[in-house]
Amino acid sequence: MLKAISETRDKNKSTYSQHDIVMSAFACMYFQDPSFLAFQQRLENKLKSSNLKTLFDVKDIPKDTQLRDVLDKIPTENFSDVFSHMFEQLRRHHHLKEFEVIPGIYLCSVDGSQYHSSKKVSCEHCLTKQHQNGVTSYSHSVLQGAIMHPSQRQVIPMMPEIIRNEDGTKKQDCELNATKRFLSQLRERHPKLGLMICGDGLFSHQPMIEETLKQSMHYLYVAKPDDHTYMMEWISAYKEIPSYQYKDDKGRTHNYRWQNKIPLNGKENTVEVNWLEYQLTNSQGKITFQNSWVTDVNVTRDNIKTLVNAGRCRWKIENECFNTLKNQVYHLTHNYGHGKEYLSDNMYILTLLAFYFHQIFELTDKKYQACRITYGSKRQLWENLRVTVRFLLFDSWEDLLNNLLSNPEPSEEYRYKP
Ligand SMILES: [Zn+2]
Repeated sequence: MLKAISETRDKNKSTYSQHDIVMSAFACMYFQDPSFLAFQQRLENKLKSSNLKTLFDVKDIPKDTQLRDVLDKIPTENFSDVFSHMFEQLRRHHHLKEFEVIPGIYLCSVDGSQYHSSKKVSCEHCLTKQHQNGVTSYSHSVLQGAIMHPSQRQVIPMMPEIIRNEDGTKKQDCELNATKRFLSQLRERHPKLGLMICGDGLFSHQPMIEETLKQSMHYLYVAKPDDHTYMMEWISAYKEIPSYQYKDDKGRTHNYRWQNKIPLNGKENTVEVNWLEYQLTNSQGKITFQNSWVTDVNVTRDNIKTLVNAGRCRWKIENECFNTLKNQVYHLTHNYGHGKEYLSDNMYILTLLAFYFHQIFELTDKKYQACRITYGSKRQLWENLRVTVRFLLFDSWEDLLNNLLSNPEPSEEYRYKP
């Protein structure tokens, strides 16, 4: 699949093909093992083969420096087809049916995240921040979108938009600009896909709402009362507004309120929005959670629970996606360095792709699911996978999983024979 990435490397300068380099880096992220290449080189020396060859189709194992140099020169954008391709495969094979939040509509949560921050390590594309004490800090961030559903544990990452400063521009790139680029790219890559974009309070302003509608997407953006005083005054002027509440088994009360077709702000050309609010009160009557949103979807008694649940599952992008990635990226940036052009961003992308593959296994791979059950936690399973591929050679991913399923003891045929 990664073969699709176009050749950008000058063939005369190195003996390693770009495919081998990209797949080797990907393999490190896949097993979350910075020492993966070194161990596979050892297998290669002893057995004239390695798991890099059998599982990732790598002919020559690159050295770390070569890997760094080549990855630094591949434009990050080149990876976008892999994301679209995998999404289409999943969708066509009906693995995403349960991700539709409204029939035919997928919820895509968007959020910014920083994956590099340093006072020393930097490149020309770093975002910079001057501190009062004269120190400059350098960072790389990304605007990430992921398809999610309130009742699905997995999240499906989309190709992110890197927030980076381009050559020759003095102005800093920012999350809102990156979001506009992200939405337009997302529409280009998936022209007919039904989408509802879900974002935090940063997005619930007229320019971003208009941008979302321009791309023929629905929106569901957090709208904090303090950020929308005009709209809140407008709502409070109604004698009565539609509401609905019910008590659950735990004695908590779920309160829903909404109002359709109201102005977002006091401007003459204001956009008209539909507002919804949710409050959860415990059995003592104390509010334990509340939030409000604006959307273009007409809010009714029938769909308000769905919309609130959709808005509330936004935390998944932080918990399920960023936190997992950051822990991995953290040690990988330490091992591979920052680069001058694309290295730092490509390392993030390759980690994201590895995460994507793991999510796909959870959704579609019966053997992998069986391994998850056998080994309990995901961490346990991957620790075992990591150690197993360091010392034993496998013909395929399936063989590797079979071996883990037939464990505790590795089977005789996989045992190293001197
Ligand atoms: Zn940088």
